[in-house]
Amino acid sequence: MPQAKKVLHSNDYDILIIGGGINGCGIARDASGRGYSVYLCEANDLASGTSSQSTKLIHGGLRYLEHYEFRLVREALTEREILWKIAPHIIYPMRFILPHHKGLRPAWLLRLGLFMYDHIGGRKKLPATKTIDLSSNETGRVLSQNFSKGFEYSDCAVDDARLVTLNALDAFERGANINTQTKCIDMQRTEGHWAVTVEDQITQKQKNINARIIINASGPWADNVLKTLDPTKHTKNIRLVQGSHIIVPKIYQHDRCYIFQNADDRIIFAIPYHDNFTLIGTTDHEYDGDPSETKITQSEIEYLCNSANEYFNEKIKPDDIVGTFAGVRSLYNDGASKAQEATRDYVLRVDRPNPKVAPMINVFGGKITTYRRLAESMMERIEGLLEKSNDTNKGKWTKSASLPGGDFAIDDFDTICSNLHNNYPFLSKQESRRYIKLYGTRSKNFLTVAKSYEDLGEFFSNGLYQAEVEYLINTEWAKTAEDILWRRTKLGLLFTTKEQQILEKWLNSYFKKTNKLE
Ligand SMILES: Cc1cc2nc3c(=O)[nH]c(=O)nc-3n(C[C@H](O)[C@H](O)[C@H](O)COP(=O)(O)OP(=O)(O)OC[C@H]3O[C@@H](n4cnc5c(N)ncnc54)[C@H](O)[C@@H]3O)c2cc1C
Repeated sequence: MPQAKKVLHSNDYDILIIGGGINGCGIARDASGRGYSVYLCEANDLASGTSSQSTKLIHGGLRYLEHYEFRLVREALTEREILWKIAPHIIYPMRFILPHHKGLRPAWLLRLGLFMYDHIGGRKKLPATKTIDLSSNETGRVLSQNFSKGFEYSDCAVDDARLVTLNALDAFERGANINTQTKCIDMQRTEGHWAVTVEDQITQKQKNINARIIINASGPWADNVLKTLDPTKHTKNIRLVQGSHIIVPKIYQHDRCYIFQNADDRIIFAIPYHDNFTLIGTTDHEYDGDPSETKITQSEIEYLCNSANEYFNEKIKPDDIVGTFAGVRSLYNDGASKAQEATRDYVLRVDRPNPKVAPMINVFGGKITTYRRLAESMMERIEGLLEKSNDTNKGKWTKSASLPGGDFAIDDFDTICSNLHNNYPFLSKQESRRYIKLYGTRSKNFLTVAKSYEDLGEFFSNGLYQAEVEYLINTEWAKTAEDILWRRTKLGLLFTTKEQQILEKWLNSYFKKTNKLE
């Protein structure tokens, strides 16, 4: 398990962050880069909450224009090229086909929305929208309905769980103390600071941490965390909306995504996913239960299959599904009557009953796409409450600093893949590409001086060797087969149940031998 380099006094920190999703890790990165001492606790694995269950788009959110969320859409659109540049290994541009559906939104309205989409977000590198004739274009041929007109526009795709881990890793390398499987179970305000109790979810050992400020970045659990502070308070700061996805073997061959507007006003994406699959989502319904227990329902599975079948020539059925995931979006409760109408924008709320006591700042809402800007706004609040750090005092810095492994130009992606293949000629081109798409220039950190597959240690399946597994344990906080197969990589899509069990068994004996979980 990685060990933090910079701790002031054993358990005293400037900032304690609850939650290792994209927002918690993004704030940890920004704050530690500005010289603050940071302790982050994540009750489960990094990105085990909503941040690995998203549609995996870095996008402006075309439909939010209809809700007049111009501030949010502009910020999100601007972030597309910034994030692509700082993480060109895990973020890449995508073209989206939006067919014009007679009887739904008129073509002029779609064109107007896309005109704004192209122009309000400082787009430079991403190609502009164009109108396409779906009756002759290859993207129309795979569709079962006779669409004639459509639009093709740009957004980006991201490996969401890796974006979280790379933010955590960068925060760690800048001095943050990152703790997974560590739940915040108690918080008390004492003499101007916070006394927080965290519990290791594997060993059940408890530890006390002192902090000058707490950031509640626990996403859909934000109200639960607030109840830890005052169990008598039952405020509903957020409302939850469940969204689910299905993964099926590729239903078309080209590389573009589709965005369909359904007659019930929902929007469905179909996205090429990990070479051989299509990702289809998402549903959208209010959720009242425990965010830890979200899973796709039978009716959502049927809805997504039926929606896909309505549009594509290639028909799918529930038996074809190779994977599903479901998550809950937490939206700030702005009093809207329906969740669909609640703001998609994030709200940062300072809780401090009087200036003598330690403050807490809550994150309500947010998108993967806007995490970096959210962290910058959070730093403004923090700097207004704590004095600026003496260490670096450097202000905004994350816009141009690449994330681990992303220190190459976006146009050099193919060259970086070829270089890795040339340096390790025993790897297939496909394997070199898989490594670059996950680890970028850091791939060599575990390939080191390997000259053959034997040098990579034990082989599990589908290109996974011991060297990569140990790297994930020692550098990226991986502890279980699920962490490795579903969040650090997506090899879970290819592993059989038996292969997953073999990996789990290997990990158990590895941790027993090395005592790394203690
Ligand atoms: C279906 C769906 C699709 C989406 N698609 C997109 C998209 O394509 N693009 C986009 O930009 N956004 C998308 N979003 C939104 C985006 O996924 C979320 O806004 C974002 O992931 C929220 O991150 P977070 O860090 O706030 O929360 P989370 O990722 O949920 O992280 C919160 C963490 O806090 C931890 N935690 C909870 N309680 C405690 C405790 N007591 N102690 C310690 N840790 C605790 C949890 O374990 C969890 O890991 C989508 C959301 C959904 C639901």
